[in-house]
Parts: sequence; structure tokens; C-alpha cells
Amino acid sequence: MDEFSKTEQDYLKAIYQLEEKTDKMVGITDVANYLKVSAPSATEMIKRLAKKKLVEHKKYYGVLLKPEGYREARFIIKSHRVWETFLVEQAGYQIDEVHEEAENLEHSSSKRLVERLYNLMQFPKTDPHGSEIPAERFWEGETITHDLNQAKVGYRYEVASLTQEAKDFLICLNQTPPKFITLTSVLTDGSVIARTDDDARFVIPHFQKKDWQLTYYSH
Ligand SMILES: [Zn+2]
Repeated sequence: MDEFSKTEQDYLKAIYQLEEKTDKMVGITDVANYLKVSAPSATEMIKRLAKKKLVEHKKYYGVLLKPEGYREARFIIKSHRVWETFLVEQAGYQIDEVHEEAENLEHSSSKRLVERLYNLMQFPKTDPHGSEIPAERFWEGETITHDLNQAKVGYRYEVASLTQEAKDFLICLNQTPPKFITLTSVLTDGSVIARTDDDARFVIPHFQKKDWQLTYYSH
């Protein structure tokens, strides 16, 4: 499922980026100008996307992304920005060399590959140009867990598993094992302060960090 052509992805991405600049529907001529194509071919393509329920097309008004189209546009943007980050951080590219490579790579990468790279680079918040990388997960086929030693301050994690020792420790603190935690700071002795979604805070000692298996969730 979820097979999109390169052209479809480019249109969805263009509409997404134009939508960010307006609170009205995006005009077909704006899409055509953005993609440097003729208005009739933009109209034809948008009708195709509307048939697939990826966009809503209103004659004389323009076009809007529907949830599935919005999600695919966000994925393509994530793919592009993850690749740019990878090329600079891991492959020795200069910042001004990565855009063209990423324009091609973004379309040929599966959701699994993009999420694996994102995971490998420890969930970067922005690409090398400073644009925000969408944090939502597009691949749920496997969850990769880390222990608390690899967790980063300011990130929210789903608690995948806890050892009995860690659970006992929480009971002593009158804290029920949380489903999500955000790491708020690391103390000089290596212990960390975690915050739950209901804003309870507690210290997890350094020696217990390996007892917490976490799945990255969001920034
Ligand atoms: Zn770029």
C-alpha cells in the first residue's frame, strides 16, 4: 500500500509548502508556478490526486491537502531533511551540496529506511539548514528501543519495559510506572530527572538507567 509516484509526491509537497504560507485554499496557478509546469498539467494532476482522496479540489478556489495527502507530504519533507542531515553529518558533504542529492533520495527511500536513518542519527530536530524535521513516526513495523543511557534531554519517550528493580524503586517513590517520560536534565553524577505526562518529576539513579527500555516518541 501507500505507493506514490515521484510526481505525486512533488505535488503533495508543493501544496503543503504553499498551504503553510496562506490560510486560504492554494490556487492551481500557484502550484503550477511553484513546480514550473503549465496550469493545465497542474489541473490534470490535481484532479488525479483528488480522485485518490489525497487532496480536495474545488473549481475556481483551488486545492487543500486531505489527511492522507498531508501525511505523505510530511513524510517526503522528513525524508528530504533526514537525508540532508545524513549527508552532512555522516557522509562529509558541504551544506550547499546536499539539496540536489536529497531531492532524488527523498523519493526513492522507504518509510522504514527514513525512520532507521532518523533513529541512527538520534532524532535530529533540524536539518543542516535549520528547518525542522517532522518528529512523527511514519514506520511502525518495528520499534527500536534504547536504554536510558542513550536518551537525550528534552525528548519524550514511551517506556517500552522496566526491570523489577526499577519498578520497586518507583514504588518507594510512590510513583506508578509511567507510560511516557520526558528527560528534563542529567545531573553531574549521571543520574537523570524524568518528568511524566502528568508533570510528576523524579530522579532515576545512574546505576538504574539500563533498567529502562525506551522508544523514542517526540521532541
Ligand atoms: Zn533541501
